[in-house]
Amino acid sequence: MRLITGGIAHETHTFSAEPTTLETLGVVRGDELLAYAGMNHSVGGVIDGCRAAGIELAPTLFAGDVSTGIPDRETFESILGELCERIAAALPADGVVLTLHGAMVAEGFPDAEAEIARRVREVVGAEMPIAVTLDLHANIGQAMVDRVDVVTTYDTYPHTDAAERAREAVALLARTIRGEIRPTMALAKPPLMPVPQGMASGEEPFRSLYARAHEMERTGEALTVTVAGGFAYADVPEAGVGMLVTTDGDPEAARRLADELAALAWSRRQEMVVRNTPPGEAVAQAIAFGRGPVMLVDVGDNIGGGTPGDGTVLLAELLAQSAEEATVVIADAEAAAAAFAAGVGGTLRAAVGGKVDRLHGDPVAVEGQVRLLCDGRWVHEGPENAGVPVEMGPTAVVRCGGVNLVLTSRKTMPGDQQQLKSVGIDPTRQRIIVVKAAVRWRGGFEPIAAHAIYADTPGLGSVDLNRFDYRHIRRPIFPLDPEAVFSATA
Ligand SMILES: [Zn+2]
Repeated sequence: MRLITGGIAHETHTFSAEPTTLETLGVVRGDELLAYAGMNHSVGGVIDGCRAAGIELAPTLFAGDVSTGIPDRETFESILGELCERIAAALPADGVVLTLHGAMVAEGFPDAEAEIARRVREVVGAEMPIAVTLDLHANIGQAMVDRVDVVTTYDTYPHTDAAERAREAVALLARTIRGEIRPTMALAKPPLMPVPQGMASGEEPFRSLYARAHEMERTGEALTVTVAGGFAYADVPEAGVGMLVTTDGDPEAARRLADELAALAWSRRQEMVVRNTPPGEAVAQAIAFGRGPVMLVDVGDNIGGGTPGDGTVLLAELLAQSAEEATVVIADAEAAAAAFAAGVGGTLRAAVGGKVDRLHGDPVAVEGQVRLLCDGRWVHEGPENAGVPVEMGPTAVVRCGGVNLVLTSRKTMPGDQQQLKSVGIDPTRQRIIVVKAAVRWRGGFEPIAAHAIYADTPGLGSVDLNRFDYRHIRRPIFPLDPEAVFSATA
């Protein structure tokens, strides 16, 4: 058996002004994809799954993983065109496995995954089975579902099962190719658009949704079940929760089970509503807490959700309230360069952060001693993304009062202790650690966290969706429209 693999995995924040370019998409080509083997990443899972099953694999192209604004048409056409050319060149094959995100929006293509699936289907023909792996934050649309045969989606947030779900996609695809199963999908879309913080898989109500989904898989009612929380920051009709159930040739059962999950999610919608602590109060509470580290969650600047990572609101509060042993990571290439110019032991005087847009706080004037300069390279220890390397670019640690200020050249998702260890900071010895995330921080930090405080910081990751000027989502939709109704059929 021979499979072709590749993909474009971008979570598009449609309100973000940060450009998405071939450079930010980090394109990997051909055999370079094989470097993902053994990593807790979808591409790694595809490779490992094929190797374990003795399946020949043709890697083509993979791009993605950093969330930014809407890619323009030229960028999207360029990357999708190359993916399709490479898939065509890798034929003949028995099937295709695509690593997508599910919440990608490109200029002219509000449902980018539907377009990717359409083009790939054109290349490989109507008969060849196509499997897709998606992120839990996918905004799943019927148009994509109609063009592929198998879909598997992360069941975890933080996303600790990326490789496992990809191996599942390979296994289901192989069984489909051998004629052992006939995957049949049904999608249910209740009018629900929760924020990321409301869909942690280890907490209610999503814990119960996954429990029921896993039960359907265990009992054999379904081959695989997707509970996608959706991505509220993509202003598209598909935005929001999607329940996608795959059965073995039984469309009625797939429909019934998908509707059951949609009804269950709808009945638990109030538990998805999130309210956070005002920033000044959050910092005061963190300082007053007796033990560390207190995780101070900068939800408004949730980098994994497409924010710039240079938000300054909590940094300003920590300095104003004279916090001790607090660590803050800010993406600011200009300030990092100034620290390199000052040199280790030198003094940095700079306006830090708040530069990408006007939404995440103003630049903060800091003065401090440069403690460390490095290339910003490290490898995830996991569990999420275990083994995946990161390049923060030239990075400096500057001591400003009681704050360890880490200045990176590129924004980098928090959630892995190695990010701090790699710059000489022992996370267990910090009183306060600011994480620019919603839920992802839990993967690496929950085992050592003494406490967590979710700050209601302003920005593109805000949990108050009324702050966004939506034009294209379905209305009414909960929680934006509390009066939304859903005639659940199960
Ligand atoms: Zn995600």
